[in-house]
Amino acid sequence: MFRDHFHLPTGPDGKPLIYFCGNSLGLQARAVDDQLHQELGSWRERGVEGWWGGPDGGWLGYHRRLQDGLAAIVGAQPEEVVAANALTVNLHLLMISFFRPAGRRTKIIMESGAFPSDQHAIASQLKFHGLDPADHLIEVKPRVGETMIATDDIVAAIEAVGDELALVLWTGVQYYTGQFFALASIAAAGRRVGAVVGFDLAHAAGNVPLSLHEWRVDFAVWCNYKYLNGGPGAPGGIFVHQDHADRPDLPRFAGWWGHRESDRFAMKAEFIPERGAAGWQVSTVPVLGLAPLLATLPLFAEAGGMTAIRQRSMELTASLYEELQQLPDLRILTSDDPAQRGAQLSVYVPGHRPELERQLSEAGLIVDYRQDNYDGSGGGVLRLAPAPLYNTPEEVRAVPERLRQVL
Ligand SMILES: *Cc1c(COP(=O)(O)O)cnc(C)c1O
Repeated sequence: MFRDHFHLPTGPDGKPLIYFCGNSLGLQARAVDDQLHQELGSWRERGVEGWWGGPDGGWLGYHRRLQDGLAAIVGAQPEEVVAANALTVNLHLLMISFFRPAGRRTKIIMESGAFPSDQHAIASQLKFHGLDPADHLIEVKPRVGETMIATDDIVAAIEAVGDELALVLWTGVQYYTGQFFALASIAAAGRRVGAVVGFDLAHAAGNVPLSLHEWRVDFAVWCNYKYLNGGPGAPGGIFVHQDHADRPDLPRFAGWWGHRESDRFAMKAEFIPERGAAGWQVSTVPVLGLAPLLATLPLFAEAGGMTAIRQRSMELTASLYEELQQLPDLRILTSDDPAQRGAQLSVYVPGHRPELERQLSEAGLIVDYRQDNYDGSGGGVLRLAPAPLYNTPEEVRAVPERLRQVL
């Protein structure tokens, strides 16, 4: 199975730990070592000539070698995607281009409880335009007593803001609750009211199938180190719809790596963007940062692409759901409907347990836990994400026992 293509972290007894944290940092594929060593060798042996010489034709076109693989994962044309910069940086760069408040149309809509970095980026962008987030940022919440946000409520909120809505900035899979949103419906609703539609796919890319091109999403950003296993701090992903591929009129915070490739090295003062997402690159392509991703992306195709991976993922997560139901003290926050979740299940654990993450790690289970007083009763939320490429049904079945040991 694909598990054999990955290094699995081991405990003190040398046995593999149950690693359900691929939503936070995906594991290292075995092929990464060779790819990195190839680039290190090229640098060692060629120095600057590594840019245009070497085993794979040099680093100059490095971003192009990732485009097919990334495009397949997010449902895009190759020129619509690029790996560059980092997630939050890309959110800023894309908002500079696509969040253009004007006249009545000044508002942004997003889910409540979004990842803090996204909240910081959006609030600071609003302030940059002289707009107060208290008036211009609309957050859609779950209904009272519910944990998932109803699609109807999202669509109704978009329609209610209507011609005051500049940007729908929605998340693919919610990092905290695990909700997989009805992205096609959200994109369509945003377009109907004339807003720009942008998605943050940090927890969706490599987890669930996406069709960004077909949904006519204007832009999207994601990180490559979660389900895509690109390594700690790997450069981020950018999608810009083909409709905007040739839009030199769009304002952007430009840099030379986004300049038209054919004469980038002519060193002229005038900026002419490269076609497509590549035009949002800013600095020199981070070769060592992208080498792990280059080695890892082919595994997604070999595993049959996102439809096949999703099938396996749904089986693992459905089975995890059943296993967790055996633990009556826990409350599963993520939907029991497979269409409304990705790989991850989020589980409320009552009580003050500041040591829970470490205790579970000692019991051989690597998961994420936030002691954050979820509902005022002092409990916290455990997030478990079996990754379809390397986790197994046996590991899922072992989870209740490990949890019982510690709880
Ligand atoms: C992981 C994650 C981030 C992290 O952003 P970086 O810029 O890569 O540090 C931001 N937003 C969301 C929604 C995430 O899940």
